[in-house]
Formats: sequence, structure tokens, C-alpha cells
Amino acid sequence: MNKKNHLSRKQINELKRMLEIERESYLNHIHAVNGHGTDVHGDAGDISSSLAETELLWGLEEQERQYLMEVDEALKRIENGTYGVCEECGKPIPYERLKAIPTAKYTVDCQEMIEQQKNTF
Ligand SMILES: [Zn+2]
Repeated sequence: MNKKNHLSRKQINELKRMLEIERESYLNHIHAVNGHGTDVHGDAGDISSSLAETELLWGLEEQERQYLMEVDEALKRIENGTYGVCEECGKPIPYERLKAIPTAKYTVDCQEMIEQQKNTF
């Protein structure tokens, strides 16, 4: 019955919650950084919220931005029902690995392979 996904509904919900908490804390971090900086209520006029959000996002460290995108992608994969399956080889990613790294989209083997490929660039 659960052949398509090796994760139980309960496990998926747990991982989803972890991702949502990650997302939340990152977004809070963005706002904290912004609140600490320039006064947006000054003479900046009315910037559209979408532009402001984009600028906030770009104000993040590259690594943070990357991670936030990965969290978003993982949440999308949960919605699509493709979460927890390696994008490279199609094998299930063990729950233990996902629990340690909820954004993981590859098995350990494939991840290592991909990172080695990256390093050659
Ligand atoms: Zn794989």
C-alpha cells in the first residue's frame, strides 16, 4: 500500500514540521537583520512589499539564501509526494538521514558523488 513512499504519513508530517520551523526561523532572521539596519519607515517612500522582500532575501548571506531555497524546495516535494526519494538514483532516502538533514534530496552516495563533481569546477 505504501510502496510509493517509504515514509509514513507521521514521519512526513514530522519532517515537514522541522522544515517549517527552519523556514520560520530564517524568515525571522531576515526581519531581525533588516530591523537592525536602515530605517525603512524613513524617507524611503512606499516600497512594494514584494520588492522589499526580494531585497531582504538578497541581503542574506549566499549560504543562507541557498538553504532557505532548499527548505522551500523540500516543502514543495512534500506537497508533490516526491519527498524522500533521491533525485539522482530514485532510491528512497532513509528516514534517519532526512531527520538529520530534512532538505536532503540525494542519498549519501549520490550526494558525495555530486559534491565531488562540483569540486572539479
Ligand atoms: Zn541516489
